[in-house]
Amino acid sequence: MVIDGHNDLVLKRWRGEPGKHIDLETAAEAGFAGGFFAMYVPSRFDGDPPSTPYRMPFAAAIPFDEAARITEELFETLCALPVRRAQSVEDFREGAITAIVHMEGAEAIADDLSNLQDWYERGLRSIGLVWSRPNAFAQGVPFAFPSSPDTGPGLTDAGRSLVRACNELGILVDVSHLNERGFWDVVETSDRPIVATHSNAHALCASTRNLTDAQLDAIRDSGGVVGVNFAVTFLREDGMNDFEATGLDEIVRHVDYLADRMGIDHVAFGSDFDGAVVPAALGGVAGLPRLVDALRRRYEPDEVDRITHGNWLRVLDATWR
Ligand SMILES: [Zn+2]
Repeated sequence: MVIDGHNDLVLKRWRGEPGKHIDLETAAEAGFAGGFFAMYVPSRFDGDPPSTPYRMPFAAAIPFDEAARITEELFETLCALPVRRAQSVEDFREGAITAIVHMEGAEAIADDLSNLQDWYERGLRSIGLVWSRPNAFAQGVPFAFPSSPDTGPGLTDAGRSLVRACNELGILVDVSHLNERGFWDVVETSDRPIVATHSNAHALCASTRNLTDAQLDAIRDSGGVVGVNFAVTFLREDGMNDFEATGLDEIVRHVDYLADRMGIDHVAFGSDFDGAVVPAALGGVAGLPRLVDALRRRYEPDEVDRITHGNWLRVLDATWR
């Protein structure tokens, strides 16, 4: 059973496209039990860097009204999917698909937090403070390689208030896409495990989207988890978008590094299915059994279980309780 830290199927469906990596009809057979389903308000530019080194332009902020309107549509799209929506960890079952309602970027939350409780009651259980752009709460990292993730200022006062309010309600706070100063502000502010739903090791791939060793250590110390992102540009040492030449071994390389650095209890998957270019050798959800087999050749069965779902369940339970 695989519980996954990030997918963008909702965005695909909202755009009227079928899932490319996730086919809900067959996903459960491949062991996919769901995970974080992102509601992401797209930025106007959307594309992959042509070659390295690169520094993509910083995406513009999205006004609250626009974000709130589109997020309503994304939520309707999510609710129309044939999946259960997670309220507690007991909702995850083998052979069924369960969605964690996740906002990727908090633009649809009012900066006085007046609609946060309402969103919680509608099922929101996870918020990524930012996508790779600024908002009222924090600043994301612009996509750049090679580059440190220390690209701008930390959380605003509203950002700290949002983290505290999420802690109180039992909404997970996700630091993927957040810049490094914002990350340390979350570490200082939050009393729950620190979670990066879809990020990799900066030591192996020097993208702004990946986590430095010091960040990994802080996540370990908080009892948190990192979901390994299958996006080719966040996996490869050269940062290139070469999906045909990228094997499953590139994903395993990051799992190994994170497990060595943090311990096996802090590593999980964060596929970025339907939101990123993934290795051709994986393809999509149908390739998950091949990835799990590759891990079985290196790890004990109970360790593989923790990577594929156990660690997510532990952190979700600690956060939602
Ligand atoms: Zn993302």
